Amino acid sequence: EMAAATPNSHRAQDRTRPASPALRYGFENAPDSDPAMIANQAWAEVIREHIATSQLGEGTRAANTVATSEELDARIQAALDSGWGAWSADERADALHAVGDELERRRAELIEVAAAECGKTLDQADVEVSEAVDFAHYYAERARELERIDGARFSPAKLIAVTPPWNFPLAIPAGSTLAALAAGAPAILKPASAASRCGALLAEAIWQAVPREAMQYVQFAERELGSKLIADEAVERVILTGGYETAEAFRSIRPEVELLAETSGKNAIIITPSADYDLAVRDVIASAFGHAGQKCSAASLVILVGQAGASKRLRDQLVDGVRSLRVGPPSDALAKMGPIIAPASGKLLRGLSVLGEGENWVLEPRPLDKAGILWSPGLRAGVRRGSEYHLTEYFGPILGVMRVDTLDEAIEAVNEVDYGLTSGLHSRDAEEIARWLERVQAGNLYVNRGITGAIVQRQPFGGWKKSVVGATVKAGGPNYLFGLGNWDAAEAVD
Ligand code: GLU
Repeated sequence: EMAAATPNSHRAQDRTRPASPALRYGFENAPDSDPAMIANQAWAEVIREHIATSQLGEGTRAANTVATSEELDARIQAALDSGWGAWSADERADALHAVGDELERRRAELIEVAAAECGKTLDQADVEVSEAVDFAHYYAERARELERIDGARFSPAKLIAVTPPWNFPLAIPAGSTLAALAAGAPAILKPASAASRCGALLAEAIWQAVPREAMQYVQFAERELGSKLIADEAVERVILTGGYETAEAFRSIRPEVELLAETSGKNAIIITPSADYDLAVRDVIASAFGHAGQKCSAASLVILVGQAGASKRLRDQLVDGVRSLRVGPPSDALAKMGPIIAPASGKLLRGLSVLGEGENWVLEPRPLDKAGILWSPGLRAGVRRGSEYHLTEYFGPILGVMRVDTLDEAIEAVNEVDYGLTSGLHSRDAEEIARWLERVQAGNLYVNRGITGAIVQRQPFGGWKKSVVGATVKAGGPNYLFGLGNWDAAEAVD
């Protein structure tokens, strides 16, 4: 029980507040009979204590819930009147660097809340804070560049709405909001409801250097208010990261909405016989099961090139590796895989339980807790081209294995999918690498590396095909801010 240890007024309040499933699991059902868990208890205790007693972000969250249409209008107007557009590029850049420093100072709190609220393992939450910090410093410098571009004049969007997902509850809302501010546009940040506590903490950090009016943070009491925000003419851009269906829904609310949307993915890693199998297996496992596979960028399919006999060693290594993954709640600092965000249902439950023709479970996913949020990783073999598994995004801890005879066949299999977000190749053959780079259809290509965890500036991130809707600028890349305003030919100046 979360509130059991010592009497404390905050804890009493915590009892009445519904916790997310991840929070409930992490703090009530920790497997404390496990020896590694016991060794780890000191750290687990620190996190448990911190989350149970703190009200981080709570005040912000409660105070920023928008309940009526009039309240939303007032927030929009306040953003438009904020005067953010009058800040010079240097002033904006300085503010963003200060936000980056503030996020760094709050690293421990941010990690704890991302773990507790969204079920991130501590190492994944940690790199996410790093990514948010990187975005702040990177976009700060891109803001200065906007002013130095010759021959054209950039005017920022009047107002930008930011609608990030829960799976990267810090990096994505930070990156999107800070990009808007860097471009000179006021922003309205509406975090995913499953990540609203992370969103509130982030807002508090941003407000240390950016006026509240310029960065509106909102929660909606009613779903309709979200539609109203998207429909508002003052909103000149919407930055969305989420499912393809959400982008379509935004377009049905407002057909002319200008989106910068990074959407779904169904991503594969190809391994050829020339690959270094040790590296390949490590990267496949990290890409498939990091954050329990709940990343648009996750590897959901591995395509083995070559005859069945030749890749037996690789297959054995993969099975051993997946089986060895330590699964645990976020309070378990050694866990390599944490919970899924909510009990498996719908498409994900189907992916965890139903096999297609010719498929078999090499490792069948099993629920490890009563709530159905902690699962052992699933590995299915025999995936066929054109099957449901081949073409569907599941967003969970399942990896499929497909075997093909040639690299060309593998590339065709990748390109058959409607989405094109990330794609990987493990090969030590220069000709194979060149051929794959030339032909494969995905926004983000990785050779001899995992396919998640794009690094700001080094690996600008964005989709292709149905993994992008609207502008094709890439997050964390040199032209992202260009998509956040309008360009006119500059008037001649002397
Ligand atoms: N940028 C993240 C990565 O490279 C993926 C973001 C997402 O899942 O939407 O892993």
